[in-house]
Amino acid sequence: MPDLDSIVKDIAAEMRARPDRGAVASYIPELARVDAQGFGLVVIDGDGRVAAGGDADTPFSIQSISKVFTLTLALGMVGDRLWRRVGREPSGSPFNSIVQLEREHGIPRNPFINAGAIAVTDLILSGHQPREALGEILRFMQFVAQDDSITIDERVAASEKRTGFRNAALANYMRSFDVIENPVDYTLGVYFHHCAIAMTCRQLATAGLFLAYSGHHPLAGHSVISAERARRINAIMLTCGHYDGSGDFAYRVGLPGKSGVGGGILAVAPGKASICVWSPGLDAAGNSHLGRIALEMLVKRTGWSIFGV
Ligand code: GLU
Repeated sequence: MPDLDSIVKDIAAEMRARPDRGAVASYIPELARVDAQGFGLVVIDGDGRVAAGGDADTPFSIQSISKVFTLTLALGMVGDRLWRRVGREPSGSPFNSIVQLEREHGIPRNPFINAGAIAVTDLILSGHQPREALGEILRFMQFVAQDDSITIDERVAASEKRTGFRNAALANYMRSFDVIENPVDYTLGVYFHHCAIAMTCRQLATAGLFLAYSGHHPLAGHSVISAERARRINAIMLTCGHYDGSGDFAYRVGLPGKSGVGGGILAVAPGKASICVWSPGLDAAGNSHLGRIALEMLVKRTGWSIFGV
């Protein structure tokens, strides 16, 4: 097998040459301004070896990838009580769907659709001021990414707040069932801001290492969560990480992963590596079009699918 660095660089070169890029998210005006030509891919293993291709160090809006880290943080704060507020079944519906909430008494299907992540954000917020909760989330991201320079893109947060009517509807609906207990504006404010964290592929791949290594962060040198919790978060990433494209992602790529409408995907090859790919053009389900294709190629060439070679 050729070495990882040349595999990653080959894939990046091939992706950059492709004409099909998908369409950048336009429902958040600030994201609509992103250049669709960007492409980055970074693979990091437990010894800190890095294979990087394309725009590995260009910051982009992590959007829903933040949901993996808010889930981790909330589980650390309230433990399995979290599952009284949110389910863990794939939704089979778009990321911002409201229909299932009505059927299930305001309980979102899983923590990785918008409604679920808003409910998780509300748990982190309880007992805190929004600023404190946000500080907690940002510090956690900086810690797992081993980089204190990570910040929130305030323009993206403001843009999302201005246009986030659907998220406001989800939050208000859940509030009517007491699934959300803080003022809706506070919860949404924290949610919009953690979605607007800007990170590079290199930073996000580093941040995912603890999920690839049973809760232990090899570069930080200690455990972030238990092995059991890491395994469970990976299971939810596999089954729910790509909205109603989760089944197809498992079929084609076969790794736990979480996508965001900023065009990033964080994927975890347990015991092997943490991977981040970014290409802002999305497919119909809101997942990075070239990002998914690039991961499919990577898995084919490395044999890393959790389902076998
Ligand atoms: N902040 C985005 C929203 O709430 C996240 C969606 C996504 O990345 O899938 O719509």
